[in-house]
Amino acid sequence: MSKVLIIGAGGVGGVVAHKAAMEKQHFSDVMLASRTLSKVEAIAAEVEQMHGRKLRTAQVDADNVPQLAKLLKDYKPQVVINVALPYQDLHIMDACLEAGVDYLDTANYEPPDVAKFEYKWQWAYQDRFKSAGRMALLGSGFDPGVTNVFCAYVQKHLLDEVHYVDIVDCNAGSHGKAFATNFNPEINIREITARGRYWENGDWKETDPLSVSRIFDYPGVGEKKSFLLYHEELESLAKNLKGLKRIRFWMTFGDAYLKHLEVLGNVGMTRIDEVEFEGQKIVPIKFLRALLPDPASLAKGYSGKTSIGCLCEGIKNGEKKRYFIYNICDHAETYKEVRAQAISYTTGVPAVTGAVMMVTGKWKGTGVFNMEQLDPDPFLQDVAKRGLPWHVEER
Ligand code: NDP
Repeated sequence: MSKVLIIGAGGVGGVVAHKAAMEKQHFSDVMLASRTLSKVEAIAAEVEQMHGRKLRTAQVDADNVPQLAKLLKDYKPQVVINVALPYQDLHIMDACLEAGVDYLDTANYEPPDVAKFEYKWQWAYQDRFKSAGRMALLGSGFDPGVTNVFCAYVQKHLLDEVHYVDIVDCNAGSHGKAFATNFNPEINIREITARGRYWENGDWKETDPLSVSRIFDYPGVGEKKSFLLYHEELESLAKNLKGLKRIRFWMTFGDAYLKHLEVLGNVGMTRIDEVEFEGQKIVPIKFLRALLPDPASLAKGYSGKTSIGCLCEGIKNGEKKRYFIYNICDHAETYKEVRAQAISYTTGVPAVTGAVMMVTGKWKGTGVFNMEQLDPDPFLQDVAKRGLPWHVEER
């Protein structure tokens, strides 16, 4: 029985709070903390009403390391679930080291002024976490997260060598808004407008943003046009999957979404540098974020499904084999259960599952870990029971 501190009260933070509250056997006490106290309190009230469990609440600026370290030293959780923004990752890792607490997140660090996400900044904490005897689990969402564990499962049980991986991510849901993003708009738009990148035979290959596409047949959804993107799990999987020859990531986008994005880009609204406006400096993408719907607010009335998985090809007993391992999640079902849409849900459930792996000792170690470096079996058993069942097909 352990205490857990959740940082971030957005769409994903809401799911993590609900699901952690439902885990009485693993979490003796749950605290939700974020920058805006009113959002924390709204989630806590909903959790109490739906699950009859009272959460502790706190206001914290996670970029203020001394303030956060004090909260950790006072509350003494066993693990922090960081579902704030990637900009906070290093500060939260610093505070965890200072207070002697394990760390988990769902997205890798990005410097605010460059749209570039790489593990190098967080991998650089390896020695500090090791010598402090603490564990940091990186990327415990769906992608990264479950997709990494799917690959580890294929490597452990289905193939002797995994040669080709295509991670395919489809949201075939409809929220009825002209334009909205399913998770933090700023992080989402930075990711999609970046140059595409994939790994082949030891090298990274670049493509223009959204310039390469193909049709995938997604279970539960059907055929959808999918675009090649760079996604952070490619970096760790290219390092950790043995015998790999190529790994790519694909995501679906509707025509209306792409048209809005193109126009916003053309007029400069997706810029991440400061511009002068009426005597003030503003960052256009941050201003755009303030105008767009909050991801959590999309949940009510969202219909349709997400279908996300890994298509893995390789060799088993000298024979060529291909497997598809995936999950389908329904927006309306997740709303019924925890008042969230499926993107927040498919991120929040693996975050809680990762934390359960850590507090039960099913996953243990000292240092910084990516998901595929740990045993996939207990995680996949648990994540299915917690709301994300998965399936394997030979293709
Ligand atoms: P939201 O923007 O909805 O929520 C972010 C929350 O973090 C807000 O409550 C925000 O507070 C809080 N926050 C921001 N800065 C600070 C700070 N300095 N101190 C304390 N709290 C802070 O984002 P989402 O919930 O949609 O996404 C959360 C995370 O999940 C992101 O990192 C995202 O990249 C990741 N993600 C991962 C996925 C995966 O599959 N691996 C998929 C989807 C998302 P405030 O309300 O004051 O702004």
